[in-house]
Amino acid sequence: MKYILLLGDGMADNPADELGGKTPLEYAATPHMDRIACMGTAGLIDTIPRGFPPGSDVANLSVLGYDPHIYHSGRAPLEAASIGISLSPDDVAFRCNLVTLGDDEDPVMEDYSAGHISSQEAGLLIDDLNAFAGSDQCRFYSGVSYRNIMVLKGGSLRVVTTPPHDIVGQNSNRYLPQGDAASFLVNLVKRSRVLFRDHSVNRERVDSGKRPASSIWLWGEGKKPRMAPISDRYPVRGGLISAVDLLRGIGYYAGLELLHVDGATGYIDTNYEGKAAKALEFLTMNDFVFLHVEAPDEMSHEGNMKGKIRAIEDFDRKIVGTILGEVGQLGEYRIAIMSDHPTPFKIRTHASDPSPFAVYSSRKEENIRTVLSFGETGAKKS
Ligand SMILES: [Zn+2]
Repeated sequence: MKYILLLGDGMADNPADELGGKTPLEYAATPHMDRIACMGTAGLIDTIPRGFPPGSDVANLSVLGYDPHIYHSGRAPLEAASIGISLSPDDVAFRCNLVTLGDDEDPVMEDYSAGHISSQEAGLLIDDLNAFAGSDQCRFYSGVSYRNIMVLKGGSLRVVTTPPHDIVGQNSNRYLPQGDAASFLVNLVKRSRVLFRDHSVNRERVDSGKRPASSIWLWGEGKKPRMAPISDRYPVRGGLISAVDLLRGIGYYAGLELLHVDGATGYIDTNYEGKAAKALEFLTMNDFVFLHVEAPDEMSHEGNMKGKIRAIEDFDRKIVGTILGEVGQLGEYRIAIMSDHPTPFKIRTHASDPSPFAVYSSRKEENIRTVLSFGETGAKKS
């Protein structure tokens, strides 16, 4: 038996007047997902337990069967695993964004990504920050673009931090870390501002009309999660295909092989065909593949309805269609399609509502066949 999980991040949405009362998933042309729903079993999956924020970390832990009440430990430790940092049990990892703040008088959060700074520029800033403010207790690590990591030895989790993308346009002083060790953390942020102020990377960015990385911003803290590999619960050897560090970190702790696909970007220009081909190749020798596509979520965050529909149609044709066309040659299979959480394009952020899923099994008697197409409305009725 081969197990295939194809997940479009943030695909689920609400009905929209512009789409004749349909959701983007229902409006988009998705013949392959419709076939899975129609021939298989469709329904809703509730991935965000009450009291948890509707993040992709919480949602995808649920999707893989790790109860967030037990296993959720913040996003930074997951991202740390993805970039190869091994955490000790008493380490606390923080996401360390490079951000653009206004001047010291009025430090407004102008950009949570410092103009999507390049990884190379970010690496230079993080290296210098380590020399300037790093210590045996506190170390900075380069990630991808503005997404870097700080690890604090023997840190406390009794700290309150705020995601920088939630406070764009607001005075950032009110949202600096609070709680245990807050003064240490706030001091690091302030020291980064001093170091970055006249840094050559920023001078060049400003000269070429780009936003400077004027500060770090610490958030998303957590300790190493205590997840046992998925193979402890199910006799499968599995792999994960995703461009997103957060997902790759979950895959790492779940004991999935992290598969690399050239041109996988986490954006609408990702290499869909390459991902589908990699999944099929991996399944020839293994049992389970989890293929994640970030593009529908990114389009929703941009409020780009047409882009979201295109991302869904690309996902359907280039991934679901390709895999459905070939997978029968590998023998028996069960294939699932789903969204991890809704990201309604009108609110441009995640929501906690259940998401639609559909599963098709090549063992015909396992299919319940309750809907005609894949979408929120049918899944809810099913
Ligand atoms: Zn997500």
